[in-house]
Amino acid sequence: RFITLEGGDGAGKTTQAALLTDWLEASGRTVVRTREPGGTDLGQRIREMVLHERGHVAPRAEALLYAADRAHHVETVVRPALERGEVVLQDRYIDSSVAYQGVARGLGADRIRSVSEWAADGLAPDLTVLLDLDVTVGRARVAAARGDTFDRLESEAAAFHETVRGAFLDAAAAEPARFLVVDASAPAEDVQRAVRTAVGALVGI
Ligand code: C5P
Ligand code: MG
Repeated sequence: RFITLEGGDGAGKTTQAALLTDWLEASGRTVVRTREPGGTDLGQRIREMVLHERGHVAPRAEALLYAADRAHHVETVVRPALERGEVVLQDRYIDSSVAYQGVARGLGADRIRSVSEWAADGLAPDLTVLLDLDVTVGRARVAAARGDTFDRLESEAAAFHETVRGAFLDAAAAEPARFLVVDASAPAEDVQRAVRTAVGALVGI
């Protein structure tokens, strides 16, 4: 089963993925916990380029770097794990590209979705958990955790992140069967309870 976690910076994707992995492993499942960008050695180098490039990065180049990361990651990590019958729990996927590059960068949601699906060779998640959080709260969490060192994308204006948030919610509304939307301002344990209910139904726990 292929489960993706989406949401803005500071929404708690990493925390929720860790808690979910513990629970799935305790229930006897083999979990591959991974992320985009950066889920492979090649992807880690792409991640460095995208997040820490100084100065302007042409939006189309940025979109294609994420796509390249994804193509390599899906083929070498995600699909093999799914073929072995493992659970893949992934931080960010195509919905992030559509929200950030398609909508917030203005490249077009449909165009970025089609580039992304081509890069992923059609692999779609079985379940996507959207951790929805107020942008100001998310930013404050990132600042508290990392002492105000923001990467290039995190440094975008609040309006950019508001647009991203809206795009994620639109994606969830368009595909309610695939998405679980959780209020990420709730305590982590409460968020995790909701996530486990949905994931348990999917994997038969
Ligand atoms: O969540 P994570 O720290 O891995 O994401 C790295 C950064 O890349 C985030 O700040 C996010 O805003 C950005 N990003 C993006 N477009 C994507 C994926 C991530 O702008 N498709
Ligand atoms: Mg980050």
